[in-house]
Amino acid sequence: MLSANAVALAYLAASVLLILALKGLSSPETARRGNLFGMVGMAFAILVTLQLESVHNYAWIFAAIALGGVIGGVVARRIPMTHMPQTVAFMHSLVGLSAVLIAVSAFYDPVAYGIADAVGGLRPASRIELFLGTFIGAITFTASLIAFGKLQGLLSGKPLVFAGQHVLNLVLGVVMLAAGIMFCVTQGWLPFLLMLAIALVLGVLLIVPIGGADMPVIVSMLNSYSGWAAAGIGFTLGNNMLIVAGALVGSSGAILSYIMCKAMNRSLLHVLLGGFGGEAGGGGAAASVGDRPVKAGSAEDAAFLLKNARSVIIVPGYGLAVARAQHALKELVDKLMGMGVEVKFAIHPVAGRMPGHMNVLLAEADVPYDIVHEMDEINAEFADTDVAVVIGANDVTNPAAKSDPSSPIYGMPILDVAKAEHVIVIKRSLSPGYAGLDNDLFYMDKTMMLFDDAKKASEAILQALD
Ligand code: NDP
Repeated sequence: MLSANAVALAYLAASVLLILALKGLSSPETARRGNLFGMVGMAFAILVTLQLESVHNYAWIFAAIALGGVIGGVVARRIPMTHMPQTVAFMHSLVGLSAVLIAVSAFYDPVAYGIADAVGGLRPASRIELFLGTFIGAITFTASLIAFGKLQGLLSGKPLVFAGQHVLNLVLGVVMLAAGIMFCVTQGWLPFLLMLAIALVLGVLLIVPIGGADMPVIVSMLNSYSGWAAAGIGFTLGNNMLIVAGALVGSSGAILSYIMCKAMNRSLLHVLLGGFGGEAGGGGAAASVGDRPVKAGSAEDAAFLLKNARSVIIVPGYGLAVARAQHALKELVDKLMGMGVEVKFAIHPVAGRMPGHMNVLLAEADVPYDIVHEMDEINAEFADTDVAVVIGANDVTNPAAKSDPSSPIYGMPILDVAKAEHVIVIKRSLSPGYAGLDNDLFYMDKTMMLFDDAKKASEAILQALD
């Protein structure tokens, strides 16, 4: 068994590895190494924790690790990349649920958790920790379940708004805090359970008004909540490692939410208060696509435009992931570059269904990192580009975000695809994207629609180039 100092040092080393993991994950080039640091750091933290004096019942622990490991392994292998956001949301719900269950059992038997005062009740500091851990965990649990349901299509992606929603949330929030303070003072089960019940309801109420187009920020916020809930459990269990790991998840999730809010021109405060995005379209709602004429072309037409171009910028979106077209697209890019065409990728921060979705797909197909550019780096280059190819993307190119103040996505920064000399849009139909909006880009004179599956279209263009 390690001494207390050795445990502290080992936890410090594991914490440094987790910080290096976050640093690595901040860029696609170093993400694999970052992941490795995270895995080693977490394995190390678990091993050190397992040998602590306070840890008993190894049979239960190893049975749980084996069961969870097998379920996690199977789920990770089976889940397609397109279902990753709801998987992440579901996992956050489990973190929230564990925080609540640990808080309930710690309150039930404080002596077993080493948080009892002289007369067997809870120490004052532990009451506050339990209060915070319980309500943050409960909100995380139900909010994540609703986000999972919306993203999985089990619940409608449309925002559910009703009169007095904010006032109701505010009143419930105040009653929940009052019940929590009452619990801290009296240590009674009644205020504890009241606080827990209201937090569970609040988790639902905060998420139902949020529409599909705003879900990315919510998934990231829930990531942050789940980190704070874990940190809360860390205080209850007196485990510094869990406090550090939870705080890292909590703060990185909050920073990511802030970055995404900026990228979508939204206010973080509105996200925190709920009701955010109530004005937005809401995932999957069909826009009324009228009879406006579009210019449709073939793979041969696209190949002609591309081979005569000096510069091409490719804008991938959710449809690339659905079609699993990244490898076919990479072959097409190699071919064009071999023909002397300058090819770059432009990545919108919320393209796809989770932050970094497109970067992961392109990395999987070994697209060189130096031709993959984030929106801010490359947006100005569209004006000097011969052909912009939009493949499986929609909302992130919608000019209405800039030109139509009545549009639900007005203010969201978009990729300036329309400034390129020619635009090729590859998708199967004129169907709207996640925000449920028609896209004026499709009807522009300079735009050629190539109606096909992204993978089939990439293969057909490559064949036409051959
Ligand atoms: P969109 O959802 O706007 O559009 C995707 C397009 O892909 C659809 O219009 C669809 O058209 C097309 N498509 C689907 N399947 C295929 C296929 N097999 N081949 C070719 N095309 C296909 O995607 P974007 O990436 O442009 O925008 C992302 C949207 O998702 C934003 O609204 C964002 O806010 C939201 N969101 C983002 C998250 C994130 O963190 N990144 C998380 C959750 C939501 P068609 O059916 O005609 O083929």
